[in-house]
Amino acid sequence: MTSMPGMVALFNGSGGIASLLVGWAALFGADPSVGAVTPFTAVTVFLSVMIGGVTFSGSIIAWAKLAEVMPSKAIVFAAQRVINGALLGGLVVCGVFFALDPAPDTHLFYAILGLALLLGVMAVIPIGGADMPVVISLLNSYSGLAACAAGFAINNNILIVSGSLVGAAGIILTNIMCKAMNRSLANVLFSGFGAVKTATKVEGEVKSIVAEDAYLILEAASSVTFVPGYGMAVAQAQHVVRELGGILEANGCEVSFAIHPVAGRMPGHMNVLLAEANVPYDQLLESDDINPRMPNVDVAVVIGANDVVNPAARDDEASPIYGMPIVNVDHARTVFVLKRSMASGFAGVDNPLFFGTNTRMLFGDAKTSISALIAEFK
Ligand code: NDP
Repeated sequence: MTSMPGMVALFNGSGGIASLLVGWAALFGADPSVGAVTPFTAVTVFLSVMIGGVTFSGSIIAWAKLAEVMPSKAIVFAAQRVINGALLGGLVVCGVFFALDPAPDTHLFYAILGLALLLGVMAVIPIGGADMPVVISLLNSYSGLAACAAGFAINNNILIVSGSLVGAAGIILTNIMCKAMNRSLANVLFSGFGAVKTATKVEGEVKSIVAEDAYLILEAASSVTFVPGYGMAVAQAQHVVRELGGILEANGCEVSFAIHPVAGRMPGHMNVLLAEANVPYDQLLESDDINPRMPNVDVAVVIGANDVVNPAARDDEASPIYGMPIVNVDHARTVFVLKRSMASGFAGVDNPLFFGTNTRMLFGDAKTSISALIAEFK
């Protein structure tokens, strides 16, 4: 589950290279008796090679960042946008010449191929950290567009229709994710997430709690909100969380689950895990719905979530994640944070929540900690 975005990146890359090869092959397939490749086919071949190439190399970089084969941080340098603009301009110029005289094995064609692959790398390296899900969704859209162009090149309606569907679906998802992170697409693509800004250093006292004491507070609580994150997926704690929810309900407590749109490592990650554990769907609330009620929540139990509950995103303008909507768990009366250490989350930024006066850290693997709480109840 936690490696899904990386696998989706590889799928997107495969789609891109497939479209590139189909477009390229269309040039060889031209029937000499009918004459040369038509300008229309040449344009569609150019588009499938260009978009397919960008998708392929961009997706490989996205996968390498997610798999931590290369640093996941944004790589930015002076004149980066000028270079990317020049690459795109060069591609368009080559495309025009190619459309006038299309051939599969000319220097011009190889120039298009090389420029497209280079542009894919250059377009993705300045994107990093928490922006990776958005770029993967965007590359998914590109892979659809490349397939659509390849469909025109070989006159295949199914490829045209399915490519358009993927292209449109990918751009809609990209838009939804940008909104969830309160960012514009341009900001995601060009701001170099995490490369420049440094959040205000967080200092203070961390108060830890053991399961025996946490149990006493939970036992007396009349409303509890669970906030799952990536750590719940790692620990595979969804089933014990469901069990604890049931025990709390039987104890007369109102139980809800706050779902942040980018919690975990893929869209809908938490919904899928909680559905697998048969958590009733009406207990799942989106951040916008739960936040106004948070001051009335007795205990917010954060299960392996970090970035999506980081108050710096709301309060610290210097933070790289400033502006991303969060679940306001710090507004609850008491917050339990279940994680193994003080380590930061995906975005690599400190979390002032851990130092809050109403926060208690329950250190350990999330499944072990929840199981210990269940044992106390039993
Ligand atoms: P985070 O990545 O911010 O934090 C996860 C936390 O889980 C870590 O701090 C880690 O702390 C803890 N953890 C890991 N393993 C365990 C375990 N076994 N038991 C208990 N805790 C554990 O997760 P969030 O869900 O809060 O945020 C998601 C982030 O990922 C966002 O920045 C988002 O933008 C990004 N992202 C989202 C995608 C999506 O589509 N949903 C895709 C790709 C990235 P410790 O090591 O101390 O235990």
